[in-house]
Amino acid sequence: MPGPSPIRLLSDAVINKIAAGEVVDRPASVLKELLENALDAGATRITVEIVAGGRKLIAVSDDGSGMDRDDALLSIERHATSKIRDVDDIEDVATLGFRGEALAAIAAVSQFTLTTRTAAMEGGTEITVAGGKIQDVRDAGGPAGTSIRVRNLFFNVPARRKFLRSEPTELSHVRQTFLVYALAHPGAGLILRVDEREVWRLAAGATLEQRLLELFGAEQVGLLRPVDFRAGELRLHGYAGLPSLSRGDRSDQYFFINGRPAGAPLLHFALSEAYHTLLPRGRYPVLYLFLELPPGQVDVNVHPAKKEVRFRNPGAVRDAVIEGLRRALGTAPAAAAGIPGAPAPSAAPAPESWIPALDRERPPAFAYPRLPMIPSGPPPAPAQPADAGPAQAAAAGPWAWCRVVGQVGGLYVVLETPDGVVLMDPHAAHERVLFERFMKEVTGHRVNSQGLLAPETVALLPADARRVREQLDLLRDMGFGLSEFGADTFLVDALPVCLGNVSAAALLAEVANTLERAGARGGTERWAEEAVAQAACKTAVKARDRLEPEEIEELVRALAATSMPYTCPHGRPTVIFMSFGELHRKFGRA
Ligand code: ADP
Ligand code: MG
Repeated sequence: MPGPSPIRLLSDAVINKIAAGEVVDRPASVLKELLENALDAGATRITVEIVAGGRKLIAVSDDGSGMDRDDALLSIERHATSKIRDVDDIEDVATLGFRGEALAAIAAVSQFTLTTRTAAMEGGTEITVAGGKIQDVRDAGGPAGTSIRVRNLFFNVPARRKFLRSEPTELSHVRQTFLVYALAHPGAGLILRVDEREVWRLAAGATLEQRLLELFGAEQVGLLRPVDFRAGELRLHGYAGLPSLSRGDRSDQYFFINGRPAGAPLLHFALSEAYHTLLPRGRYPVLYLFLELPPGQVDVNVHPAKKEVRFRNPGAVRDAVIEGLRRALGTAPAAAAGIPGAPAPSAAPAPESWIPALDRERPPAFAYPRLPMIPSGPPPAPAQPADAGPAQAAAAGPWAWCRVVGQVGGLYVVLETPDGVVLMDPHAAHERVLFERFMKEVTGHRVNSQGLLAPETVALLPADARRVREQLDLLRDMGFGLSEFGADTFLVDALPVCLGNVSAAALLAEVANTLERAGARGGTERWAEEAVAQAACKTAVKARDRLEPEEIEELVRALAATSMPYTCPHGRPTVIFMSFGELHRKFGRA
């Protein structure tokens, strides 16, 4: 571990250059500053203690570099920092902190104890401060590293103490801050104790994937796809959620720019582009994205709490985020297939994107532009790139070719692909196919509607009927020929073609029901998506239907051509992949 660098007072010129701002406004912002300092000091194990939502105690101990007595005394002075020296350094700042005002600001509004020792020194130092006045400086034992205890925040500023929210609210902000830094630094071991109860104990030396598993569990992680994309000096990596993991707000989107949790309006734009056809408006993907670029390319000095950054070259960042995400999700344009006019990809495609995240052994290649369906025989030669038509649909497909082996358990379809065996749930797959087809029609106002030979009357429960009445226009957009028949009864004389043969009564009841559930959440688009998903489910082949080989092949082709072949609209998997590599290992053939 490198020794601590000397602390210096910044000159006035530097002070003025630094965007001024309140760094401390609630327990969570204290925790943020203390965590950043611990991480900047190279800590690998950090323990956080919170009492009463942080009103009574916020304590952070680390095993980082520690400080000698002079530095410890200097560290609580305003504008004392070891991290930059003059204005030019701000341009290239690589540490999380650099303003040198956090400890001073925190110590000014709390009862503050700093205990610290460098590895090189036998004895450590303990400094006690109350309301900005040093009470005591003395020798202290303890392990190398730094421990800071902040008691009774704002005890001497009643006006601000009054502005603190309830304990649960402050605690939820504290927990969110802890989570953000736990994600940003999976290598650091982190413990969170709240009111003397251990809430988190996160192992040191974790990868991002391991940390995500610890924090969110396998189910959520299974719906993430790895992102790893480079363009020039810029690198985007992390995980992107499949559309089925979407949320009603941005609360599960985490961005880290050079290790610093940060947002930028530009990123929101790039996201909505990348997920454009995958999510309806008002739905937001789950993301854990790390953007790495030379420090000089990003300005962190825009926001006092350093939450928002500005890029020197916003266009390049935006393009990289869009491209990186599209590749991860398998929706990148089929440039590799040689479609005329499509730009050449600047990096190798990320073919592993369609394999469940925890299970990617050997990714199937996307290199073949076509998706021939051969019931038997050897794999075909790659198709000619000039064949742009089918290539476009197939290039995003999950496998180059496949052979239908059969159906097992009266349900699952077994496929052989170049890289392994795929099990497909035909019902889930069919749902996905119908969902995308129908969604496209609905959003494009191009629903094909088919008149019924014998119109059906459908009686609904009063609540369902009311919803249907309220949404008649949307239902007509969806291809329902629908008129009121009095007393909660409707006359259905046409149905959307792509939903095939299904009873009007069953479908309308189902859709009305969805209206009921989705209505509360509001938003027409959201509703349409739910209703369409529900309708697709109703119409999709039944789980136990026996399928003819040709039907299976058609389904496989259609699934491969969807923009999101891996999950049904409800988020269940459509396919499970087992690579030959994995099989070889299981058979001890490694
Ligand atoms: P900044 O982080 O912006 O430099 P702070 O007020 O947060 O300002 O900290 C002041 C200085 O105190 C830091 O530059 C660092 O040298 C030292 N320091 C603070 N916390 C720690 C810690 N946990 N371990 C080692 N040094 C620390
Ligand atoms: Mg700091």
